[in-house]
Amino acid sequence: TLFLDQETLRNLEIFEPLRGNTDETTLIYHIDRTKTAAGGRELRDWLMRPSRKMSVIEERLDSVETFTENKSGLRRLRDSLTGMPDIERVLSRIVTGKAAPRELLALATALERIPEIAEICSGINAGAITRAASDMNTPVEAGRLIEQSIVLDCPAHMRDGGFIRYGFDPELDRLIDDSEGGKNWIAALQETERERTGIPTLKVGFNKVFGYFIEVSRIHQDKVPDDYTAKQTLVNSQRYITQVLKERESRILTAESRRVELEREIFSRICADIAIESASLRKIASAIAHVDTLSSLADLALEKDYCRPEMNTSLDLVITGGRHPVVENLSGTNFIPNDLVLRPDERQLLIITGPNMGGKSTYIRQAALVSILAHMGSFVPAARVEMGIMDRIFTRVGSSDNLARGQSTFLVEMAETARILHGCTSRSLVLLDEIGRGTSTLDGLSIAWAVTEYLVEDKGRRPKTLFATHYHELTDLSARFGRIQNVRIAVKEWGDSIVFMYHVEEGKSDRSYGIHVAQLAGLPSSVVERAGEILEMLERDTSGPDTGAISTERQMSLFHPADELRDKINSLETDHLTPIQALEFLSGLKDIISRD
Ligand code: ATP
Repeated sequence: TLFLDQETLRNLEIFEPLRGNTDETTLIYHIDRTKTAAGGRELRDWLMRPSRKMSVIEERLDSVETFTENKSGLRRLRDSLTGMPDIERVLSRIVTGKAAPRELLALATALERIPEIAEICSGINAGAITRAASDMNTPVEAGRLIEQSIVLDCPAHMRDGGFIRYGFDPELDRLIDDSEGGKNWIAALQETERERTGIPTLKVGFNKVFGYFIEVSRIHQDKVPDDYTAKQTLVNSQRYITQVLKERESRILTAESRRVELEREIFSRICADIAIESASLRKIASAIAHVDTLSSLADLALEKDYCRPEMNTSLDLVITGGRHPVVENLSGTNFIPNDLVLRPDERQLLIITGPNMGGKSTYIRQAALVSILAHMGSFVPAARVEMGIMDRIFTRVGSSDNLARGQSTFLVEMAETARILHGCTSRSLVLLDEIGRGTSTLDGLSIAWAVTEYLVEDKGRRPKTLFATHYHELTDLSARFGRIQNVRIAVKEWGDSIVFMYHVEEGKSDRSYGIHVAQLAGLPSSVVERAGEILEMLERDTSGPDTGAISTERQMSLFHPADELRDKINSLETDHLTPIQALEFLSGLKDIISRD
C-alpha cells in the first residue's frame, strides 16, 4: 500500500477535520457517494490504504472509466443500490447469534434485489464489474429459507414468539393449533354456557392471578350448575371454574410457553443454516460493496469533472490544471487550477513562496490529495495527470501541538521532520509547510536550509518535495542545486492593497504581505502602521537599502564550510598543478575556514 501515517491523514484532513467539528473540510466528506454501508466502508479502506500495485489501480480506474462512459447503466445501478440493507453486518450478527428476526427479513430483501443488480453489472463492460456480477450470482438458499420461515410483519423482539411462520415446522404448528384452538374454544364457551345454564349475563374472563373464569351475577346464583367450582367472591357476583376449563387453560399455557421456546430453537436452526452459507453470502456482499464503491467514484468523476490519472513506473509527478478537491467545493466556481511538475532529475524540490493567504498550503496539499486519489483508483480533480507509483506521502504541516504528551510544538515539529528525512525514498512525495517556525528566526531558517539541502543531496534517493515557506532566503538555494526550483503564488499590487491571484508561476517572491493580511484581519491601524515602519527599518539594516534579500555574507555562512571545502577539493585537477597554484589553492581553503 501507499503508506500514509497518522500525521499525514490528519494534516491532509482525510477523515477528520483539523479544527472545529464540521466534516466539510475533510476529503471523505466530498468524495463519498456510496449508496451502501459496505460500499462506504470499502471506500474508507481504499482511502486509508491506497494501493501501490499498478494492476489493482488500473483495474479500478478501468471500471470507473467504463461507468463514466455508460451513464444510463451507472444511473440504473445507483438507483438499484439505494437503500440496500447491509448484508455483511446482518451476517456477522447471525454468526455471533445476535440477529433478530427482522434482520433476517432485511437480509432476504437484500438478496431479492441482487439479481437485478447483477443483471445491470453484467452489462457493464469492465473486468472487475462483470466479475462482481458473477459473484453476485453465487447460489444461496438463505433468501428462500427466510421467506418460508419468518413472519413478514414479525415483532421486533423474540420475547413473545410469533415470528416463525405457520406451516414451516409441524411441531410448532401443533402447538399453535393447541393454543389458538384452545383460545377459540374459550371464546365460544360464553355462548354455550349461557345456553346451557339459561343465564343471559354469564361472562367468561381472564386475569393474571386466577387465569380463565366464568362470572355469574348474584341474582342468577340459583341457576349455577353443579360442575362449577366457586373460586372468587365479588360484591355483586361470583367467579367459578370448571374442570374442562381448567384443562383447556393449562393446555393453552403450556402450548404457549413451549411455542416461544420452540420458535427460538427453530430460529437458531435457521441462523445456523444461513451461517453455513456465509462464505457465499460474503462473496455476494463484497461484490455489492465493490460495485458501489467504483460506481460512486464514477459519479464523483462525472459531476466534478475529474480526469483519469495516467499511472506509470517513473518517479515523476506532473499535474496539469490541478484543483484541491475540498477547497474547490467550498470556494464555489472561483477556484484557480494550477500546474505542477516534479521530476527527480531536474525538478525534484520546489520552494513555494508567496503572500500569506495566497494559496501555498492549498497548492501543496492538492498535489498530495490528487496522488492519494489516484492510488486508490479514483479519477482526480485535474485536467491531466501523469504520475509514477509512490511508496509514501510525508507531510510536515503547520504546528501540531502535543502538549498533552509533554512535548513542545517545536520538538514535535522536529521529530516529524526527522522521521521524514530518515524515511523518504525517490518514490516518496514530501510536503513541507513551513519548517522551523517554532524557534528563533535564524535557528529556524538554518534548519529549514539544512533540511532542504539534505533532501536534494544525492544519496541514492530524490524524494519529490514541495516546500512552502516564508523564508524567502531559501529561494537562493536554486542557484546552487539544479534540482531545486522556485515557484511563487502570483499577487497583484493595487495601489496600497493586494489582490490574490491564486496562480502559481515560476520564480520567487520576496514579500509575504504579512502586514497586509494582519490589516485585513483587523489589527488596530496604529499597530499595522508601526509594523510597516519596523519592517522598513529591518530591511534596511540587514540588506542595504535596495535589495530585498539578505546579505551575501550571511547567506554564505548558511552553507556548511565542509561542503564548500569538499566541492573545491573535488574540482581540483592535481595532475597539472604547479607548486604556486597549489599554494594559492591552500590559501583559498584557509579563507573559507577563516570566514566563519
Ligand atoms: P499562509 O501562508 O498564511 O499559511 P497560504 O498561502 O498557505 O497562507 P492557503 O491557506 O493555501 O494560503 O489559502 C488561503 C485561502 O485562499 C484558502 O482557504 C482558499 O479559500 C483560497 N485559495 C487558495 N488556493 C486557491 C485557488 N487556487 N483558487 C481559489 N482560491 C484559493
